[in-house]
Amino acid sequence: MKLLLPFTLILMLWGTACSEHIHDENCQSHDGYHVHTALMGGELIPVDEHGCGYNLELLIDESDRLSIYILDAHAEGFVRISQATLEVSIKENNQSTVLTLDAVADSATGETVGDTSHFRTPDSIQVARPFSGHVKSLVIGSHEYNQTKISYPGIGK
Ligand SMILES: [Zn+2]
Repeated sequence: MKLLLPFTLILMLWGTACSEHIHDENCQSHDGYHVHTALMGGELIPVDEHGCGYNLELLIDESDRLSIYILDAHAEGFVRISQATLEVSIKENNQSTVLTLDAVADSATGETVGDTSHFRTPDSIQVARPFSGHVKSLVIGSHEYNQTKISYPGIGK
C-alpha cells in the first residue's frame, strides 16, 4: 500500500488541476453529465481530458483479433490518423507482450492505410482477459500521446 500512495496523490492532484482547467475553443465540453456509447460495441478508453481529447474503442472479434478504433472527443465519430501501425504493450505476469495492430483499409468508408481510424492485429491474440497495458505512441493530428493506458475486461465476445 505504501507504494501506491504517491501515485494516488498524483492522481488526485491531477484530477484537481483538470477540473480547474479552462477549456479553449477546441475543447467542446458538453454541459452536464453524460455517458459515452461505444460505436462498435467495444470498450471505450478516454485519451486526454474529456471533451478535449479522443477515445479509443477496443474490440476483440470472433477470430480473437484485437481492433482499436480512434474516436473523437465524445466518441461520436471516427477519427482517421496517418499511422501505419499501432503498438500495444500488454502486461501479463510481470512480462510485457507487444502486439502490432495494422492500419485497416475499408472500401465502404474510403479509409486507406495511412488514413484510417481502424487498426487490427493480423492474427488472434494469445492474451488472457481481462488485460491491461498501454498504446506506445499515438499521433492524432497535431497531438501526440505516449503510453496511453488501456484495459479490456471480461472473457471476450
Ligand atoms: Zn463527452
